[in-house]
Amino acid sequence: MSVGSLLILPGDGIGPEVMAEVRRIIDWYGEKRDLSFDVSEDLVGGAAYDKHGTPLADETMEKAQEVDAVLLGAVGGPKYDDLDFSVKPERGLLRLRKEMDLFANLRPAQCFDALADFSSLKKDVIAGLDIMIVRELTSGIYFGEPRGIFEEGNERVGVNTQRYTESEIDRVARSAFELAMKRGKKLCSMEKANVMESGILWREVVTEVAKDYPEVELSHMYADAGGMQLARWPKQFDVIVTDNLFGDLLSDVAAMLTGSLGMLPSASLGTPMANERPKALYEPVHGSAPDIAGQGKANPIACILSFAMALRYSFDLGDEADRLEAAIETVLAEGKRTADLLGEEGVTPVTTTEMGDAILAALDASL
Ligand code: NAD
Repeated sequence: MSVGSLLILPGDGIGPEVMAEVRRIIDWYGEKRDLSFDVSEDLVGGAAYDKHGTPLADETMEKAQEVDAVLLGAVGGPKYDDLDFSVKPERGLLRLRKEMDLFANLRPAQCFDALADFSSLKKDVIAGLDIMIVRELTSGIYFGEPRGIFEEGNERVGVNTQRYTESEIDRVARSAFELAMKRGKKLCSMEKANVMESGILWREVVTEVAKDYPEVELSHMYADAGGMQLARWPKQFDVIVTDNLFGDLLSDVAAMLTGSLGMLPSASLGTPMANERPKALYEPVHGSAPDIAGQGKANPIACILSFAMALRYSFDLGDEADRLEAAIETVLAEGKRTADLLGEEGVTPVTTTEMGDAILAALDASL
């Protein structure tokens, strides 16, 4: 059965290595679960620059607009550091986010039991953690005008503007409520309504949207208090929705509660398309890790978990996403670790491919 179309953009550095493992998992779903994806693959970042002189060719952008989901590895690397800003690898990723209008950035913080010791928090605080931060991604202080460094009297002044329209708040709030409906039906909205007008509007609009989701328990928290609560007792949260700036900070804090960069997936969602699927880009949080690229050391789990998010949010295959996450949990419980997850002495790390082998074996065992 064909479940939909997927554009794969492995990118640079460890991107192609971790994506190779995802390709094997996609093949597994085709062979063992009769779930086949219409997969195409293309270039992004430095790899696209090397071939086309641009970090994202127009044809690739067009393809990204047409498919049900895009899965990206990572972009960048020292080879491209001196390129002009307009053709830097990261511009390829930014173009995708902008032209697909991906306004809702989903950053899960999930703690696999076997890795609970990796957290800086006590085990009982972190074990079993499973929260989702929804960060507004395309507006707010990173985009608001006026911005710049201006002369004022005899000194310079740096200016950025926090600006949100009602519709921008409304659409990201709806994405968060929809997610909460699929999860624990609890949503906490974070802003600084005590000191920012944009925060007052944020709170009013989120409260208004809540009327359409009576089953979801909504709470509000000032973002600074939210940061403290995340570090104190993160399990009190299910879904958190917040703006671009606070989301940038809070999602990094929440993610790091759970351990390694090699374990963190993300999704960025846009407006629903005609088939009700939102435009979607899935990618690991980590970069191209040039320090370990080509050595078989990369942890493929962040990229594989990003594919699990695609199964859940783009293809409505939540049970299969659960299966894949459970396979990863099994492999970690067996003690398999890539080099980034080594803590205990005497454990020999597995390679990227061996981690893929182990996850495929656990998937086989799940049948
Ligand atoms: P990075 O995430 O690439 O690496 C940071 C550290 O984490 C490195 O020591 C790396 O070896 C390790 N690491 C990262 N992912 C890992 C994995 N899957 N398995 C094992 N170890 C892993 O960040 P950086 O070093 O700051 O940036 C390197 C390049 O990546 C730069 O060019 C940067 O611009 C780019 N970058 C791209 C993205 C993206 O594509 N979304 C994100 C961040 C950085």
